[in-house]
Amino acid sequence: MAEVRLPKLGWVRLRLSRALGGPVRNATVSRDGTGWHISFGVHIGLGSALPNGKPGCGVDFGVAASAYVSTEHAPRVKPPGLTVNERKRLRTLEGRKARQVTYAKKRRKGRYSNRLRRTIAAIGKLKAREANRRLDFTHKLTTDLAKNHGFIGIEDLRVKNMTKSARGTVASPGTRVAQKSGLNRSVLDNCPDERRRQLEYKCSLYGSRLVVVPPFHTSQTCAACGAIDPRSREGCGRLFSCTQCGHEDDADHNASVEIEARARRTGGSVINSTRRHPAVPSPAHGRRRMREALPTTSG
Ligand SMILES: [Zn+2]
Repeated sequence: MAEVRLPKLGWVRLRLSRALGGPVRNATVSRDGTGWHISFGVHIGLGSALPNGKPGCGVDFGVAASAYVSTEHAPRVKPPGLTVNERKRLRTLEGRKARQVTYAKKRRKGRYSNRLRRTIAAIGKLKAREANRRLDFTHKLTTDLAKNHGFIGIEDLRVKNMTKSARGTVASPGTRVAQKSGLNRSVLDNCPDERRRQLEYKCSLYGSRLVVVPPFHTSQTCAACGAIDPRSREGCGRLFSCTQCGHEDDADHNASVEIEARARRTGGSVINSTRRHPAVPSPAHGRRRMREALPTTSG
């Protein structure tokens, strides 16, 4: 059992999930539905790796499929975050929470009972499990991409704009609000910003390059002849069918090949987007973090 001395808390016991591997630089304490966690920033003295010399690829991150890699023939689909039984249990718990909250309002002047607290904790635990599984998929995907490809082309997507609410204003209400919010949920369920963040640091770690390409019309461009025509996608769902040369492919795969071609055309230089990145990374959803002074580990 390792111990860490945290400012104002003193010695706190913890279980090391892996060897530290270097001198500790900082520590982050966080909490989610499953409990308390501490993560250490460690100096490992590793710079960028030399180019790994592997073939490049383009990746289309879609909504229907989580990711389609141009060199593969099947999309990589994120498994559902919760099993059928877990989803059922979540619904039960949410119903129970609603009843308990109503009761607290009616009979207890809004004071939460211990049972209600337990219900809320159980819901939090399931949600944390779902989030962990999503993060696990994203990490495995980005590590695999960076390790096995010389460069990775991705689209420079403005997630903020893409997932804007369709609700509109009171004066001019939007249309298809529910559909758009469902689409937003599935775009965000794929955590595009997190994927990109991971690819950026993993590429330098594994000798790959992240090439960000302009996203315009990638889904309407024929990867075989380069013709851009929205009608190539007309009415055939996931199928891309070129109106010029007759090329047919899965729409997401066609887009990934086009993204790879665009990445190649940049002549090997990484295009940095003009997007402003926040200087300090924001904490992951649902986690409260505090950055503390240097801890010392023992044992
Ligand atoms: Zn074509």
